[in-house]
Amino acid sequence: MHDFSFKRGKLYCENVSVASLAEKHNTPLYVYSHATLTRNFRLLDTALSPVDHTIHFAVKANSNLGVLRTLANAGSGFDIVSGGELQRVIAAGGDPSKCIFAGVGKTEEDIELALKKGIYAFSAESEPELIRINQIARRLKKKAPIAVRVNPNIDAKTHAKITTGTYENKFGIAFEEVEDVYERATKLKHLQIRGLQMHIGSQLTEVGPFEKAVRKVAPLAKRLAEKHGIEFFSIGGGVGIVYESALESGDAKWWRSPKRKNLLTPAKYAAKLMSLLKPLGLRILIEPGRFIAGNAGILITRVEYVKQTGVKNFVIVDAAMNDLARPALYDSYHEIVPLTRQAGHHLKKNQVCSDVVGPICESSDYFCKNRMLPKVGEGNHLALLSAGAYGFVMASNYNVRPFPAEVLVKGSQAEIVRKRQPRKQLWASESIPKWLK
Ligand SMILES: *Cc1c(COP(=O)(O)O)cnc(C)c1O
Repeated sequence: MHDFSFKRGKLYCENVSVASLAEKHNTPLYVYSHATLTRNFRLLDTALSPVDHTIHFAVKANSNLGVLRTLANAGSGFDIVSGGELQRVIAAGGDPSKCIFAGVGKTEEDIELALKKGIYAFSAESEPELIRINQIARRLKKKAPIAVRVNPNIDAKTHAKITTGTYENKFGIAFEEVEDVYERATKLKHLQIRGLQMHIGSQLTEVGPFEKAVRKVAPLAKRLAEKHGIEFFSIGGGVGIVYESALESGDAKWWRSPKRKNLLTPAKYAAKLMSLLKPLGLRILIEPGRFIAGNAGILITRVEYVKQTGVKNFVIVDAAMNDLARPALYDSYHEIVPLTRQAGHHLKKNQVCSDVVGPICESSDYFCKNRMLPKVGEGNHLALLSAGAYGFVMASNYNVRPFPAEVLVKGSQAEIVRKRQPRKQLWASESIPKWLK
């Protein structure tokens, strides 16, 4: 469910016309829905209500201060992967004591910052990292709360580039070795063993792999609770979203239709997992990123040119792979719709097989290939749907293109939550050596 829909032929985000935002703020422009963010948070919160739980939004999916504040206000904690993300959470008014810190390469500087700010726990991904955390905690005369990330060696059955829970991946410590690691961690006097963590991958569209991983790891969590008094078990993020029928998925009726019964929902996720988790008596953490933010954001772009060349119809837009990298990185699908719908837009005779591409000189700079889309021309706008997670956060300045602007909508209110980057800022921290002058 989300809050982007057509009303009288115009695309709206909640009660705000998307075309009015494009006109006012120019393009490329990210637009986020406050209602969708909070609804998705609450859906998960409700689904997990049978157990003591906390939700830690994965900041790497969308780190805009307005988005983080929306979720902090809803009661969310945060899953961070760098000191920068921790500082963003704090700048947004989030609570560091509700942060867990993942990542295979935590630097000394980042560990020190996290200790000083008093995060809830580090998810340590190796023994050398535990040793490093212990040393830094000793120097700061603190105890560092830790969990170990277990790699359960379970295939998440998702895209290879976002699978994280098998022994082919760099993440966590092998299932068979984890208990010995906890044993040795008890000798590190500046660690406080607090939990166990796992995360098997992203964009999972079935509950099976989650269930398999929880079945495998829950007995380990139980033994660690008995031996080491852990208080929490984080089962990670990874709940997938609907990309292919993104627009229809804004409609509750669509979700209830019998054809959609295999889609993963928080209710189904919980139905399989709660009975396995409840007997542990531990606090359960989840770390959703995409599920909360993915369908809560869109990217608006303007058509610059339409050109037919060879056998192709290219729609050249002003957004590019530097604004939204997912298609170039993962061949991922984003539904594309014009902001205005004409009558009969769905009829073949009004559509044309198109490639929507950006202006960057790379063949991977495309948003779709050979897709039937309504005819559009210069000056029309298109919306790339489901762009709220792993969208802006992966933006770069490639081709000396400024970062796009971001807008947050709540009801009839819309406000810029990130100004378009001024062009001069792009080289403001560069300089020319004296000996070249
Ligand atoms: C990326 C990540 C998440 C979030 O994954 P989603 O698929 O966006 O839910 C959660 N936990 C960890 C450790 C991650 O690296």
